[in-house]
Amino acid sequence: MHFAFLAVAALVYIELTRSIERQREFVAGTGPYLDTKSVWSFAAVLICPPILATGMVVLTYAVAWLRVWPRQRPVPLYRWTFSCSTVLCGTQAAVAVLALGMSQYPGVPQNSLPTGLVDLAVVAGAAALRWMINCALVLAAILISSPKIKPSQLFENFSEHWLEAGAFGLGLVAAALVVRDSVVLAGVVIALVAMHRGVLLAQFRRAARTDAKTGLYSPEWWHQMAQRALERAEVRGTGMAVLMLDLDHFKVINDTYGHIVGDQVLRAVAQELAAETRDYDTAGRFGGEEFIVLLPEVDAENVRGISERIRRRIHGLVIPARTEEGEAVTINDLTVSIGAAMYPSAEIGTLEELLQAADSVLYKAKNNGRDQVHLATSRIPAQPGPTEPA
Ligand code: GH3
Ligand code: MG
Ligand code: MG
Repeated sequence: MHFAFLAVAALVYIELTRSIERQREFVAGTGPYLDTKSVWSFAAVLICPPILATGMVVLTYAVAWLRVWPRQRPVPLYRWTFSCSTVLCGTQAAVAVLALGMSQYPGVPQNSLPTGLVDLAVVAGAAALRWMINCALVLAAILISSPKIKPSQLFENFSEHWLEAGAFGLGLVAAALVVRDSVVLAGVVIALVAMHRGVLLAQFRRAARTDAKTGLYSPEWWHQMAQRALERAEVRGTGMAVLMLDLDHFKVINDTYGHIVGDQVLRAVAQELAAETRDYDTAGRFGGEEFIVLLPEVDAENVRGISERIRRRIHGLVIPARTEEGEAVTINDLTVSIGAAMYPSAEIGTLEELLQAADSVLYKAKNNGRDQVHLATSRIPAQPGPTEPA
């Protein structure tokens, strides 16, 4: 009966959080991937006989495999099976600890002192052992399959292990609820789902959208926005432009003052770009010291005006910065080369063609001596049918 309550809660939980888990797995780094399915399998290990505890691990993994990625899976089945097996190993070890140490097994810690405290310590020990075995096996597998991996990569999302600790804590709560007041288990499910959807999902969306260093849009997000803007421009028959910016001789700043100062300069340029564009323009960082701006509803004259203004503003920047050693320096005389391309134009029908055109005129601007704007004007037809921005 206890197993049935936990299984239903686990199924509801997996179903309602699968969109978040999908995104988490997608952005997961190289270290062990953690999730909160252990709430249910850890609760089961406490209050169900070992065979059912094992069943809960298999059930949650099987359902997650089938439901989180119903079509296309980024994780091959053998890796999923491996993760499931490591949890099973940890679970068997936890069973052994609980069976030996608990005053009543299967069961939750006693309500009386000091027996309850001893029980609690045994539960903590079982959780720690399960976690250690799981981690050790996963890390060993990662090391064997990619021996060249750096230790820092192995532990890059180590702070996520708090999630695992939290899952064990909630597993204990869930177990106690099932034993004493099964229906209240719904509260745990609601709390978990609400936190997932309310916090994690929003965080992941934000993280996917922005470039961490400058706060501008990430290239992937920019692409999506630009694609949509292009489709809108096509339907409405309006013009739109893309500006590609590349800072001039940026390497010199890095070489003279160090990367830290270089980063501060990138942030200052990003702020300027955000300030110099309209709310519905989209400025992104394309990588390194390259930026990209999407200008919907503009004509060639607007584009010329906006790009020139941006070029002048960047040239006029006075950026107070601090070197790695703490020395205050001022960066000025920074210049930028800009390549601009417009849609619609004779040979530009897709976003890729628009980007290519902007890139090739940016190259010309660089070759012509930098600190200048080049427009792919020859490709803009005489009557592009533009509308003035409001
Ligand atoms: P050019 O005028 O031809 O564009 O010269 P450049 O030096 O700007 O161009 P290049 O592409 O050769 O070098 C870009 C430099 O930008 C190289 C790299 O060290 C630096 N860079 C790339 N990304 C970052 C970053 O995130 N932070 C810092 N500080 N520097 C970066
Ligand atoms: Mg560059
Ligand atoms: Mg450059």
